[in-house]
Amino acid sequence: MMTKLSCCTNCGRICHTKNRATKQSFRTISSKKHRWLHDLLLARGVELESEMIICNQCRAVLCRERNHRGSKHLQVTPSDDYDDETDDSQEHFEHFDLKHILITNIFGNGDDDLYCSWCMKTNVTMMKLTLSERISLLLEHRVYTSRKAMKCSQPCCTIPHKRSQELTKLSAEQVIDLVDDLMTELYNIKNTPLLSENDTILHDEDYVSWTGWSLSQLKDMTTLVAPYMRTSTYRTPFEAVCLFWVKLKTNLSFRQIGTLFKITTSEDNIRRRAEDTFHAVTTYLNNTIVSNNLGVAHLTRIEA
Ligand SMILES: [Zn+2]
Ligand SMILES: [Zn+2]
Ligand SMILES: [Zn+2]
Repeated sequence: MMTKLSCCTNCGRICHTKNRATKQSFRTISSKKHRWLHDLLLARGVELESEMIICNQCRAVLCRERNHRGSKHLQVTPSDDYDDETDDSQEHFEHFDLKHILITNIFGNGDDDLYCSWCMKTNVTMMKLTLSERISLLLEHRVYTSRKAMKCSQPCCTIPHKRSQELTKLSAEQVIDLVDDLMTELYNIKNTPLLSENDTILHDEDYVSWTGWSLSQLKDMTTLVAPYMRTSTYRTPFEAVCLFWVKLKTNLSFRQIGTLFKITTSEDNIRRRAEDTFHAVTTYLNNTIVSNNLGVAHLTRIEA
């Protein structure tokens, strides 16, 4: 006999009916008393069916989402299967407006440690979002993410799931964290030189057009010379290697390169520091690469 494979309406996780443990972690949500769940699923663009089940993980996510929205939009009747979360959600409703700040035009409620911030699925292997990924989501897609935000380990979608109904209401602590994160990212961007190792904006072509080398080639070169380089508080070995190749490739003046690499020192010193770095890298490359017969010596500026 063929049995229809049933899976979670929200995330697609398969419910193996033969396995008792898995079966217990699913619930049927077809009936009318689950209206609030249906509404939330619809808001997330999920198509409703006559027979629906949901996994416990997704259910927990949606319960939290309901609490964040407050009871106003989603009428929850006492007959509802409120069970496990009843107490703290009641409390949440009462203090809701006093405790939260509504940020208009930004979406996402910050319960994002449970699901992927992009596809909103729960049943996946996930990793933490970096600060710059989180700020990019905010800037490019107006999606708020918490510091605990996760994403699929494998690339899942190019545009994050629309959440126009999921308003961002932040607690005082969340607001403080957000301002702090924004300041950190602003500081990073303000001090990021033309080319850096972990730039989220640049493409490989940017590195090639400025230096003649791809990002991975530049990184390899840095690994080779870094052990011989004097440590400097002004620049990382990677930046020094980039500066060297930018000079060869573009022949911009050292003063101009000083601007591109955000060299911050007194006016008379900018030129000199860029030039010093250039000559230092020339020496390091000669000592390491040339002596390894990889041959930088034959490269002219035009070739680079
Ligand atoms: Zn699910
Ligand atoms: Zn809340
Ligand atoms: Zn995903």
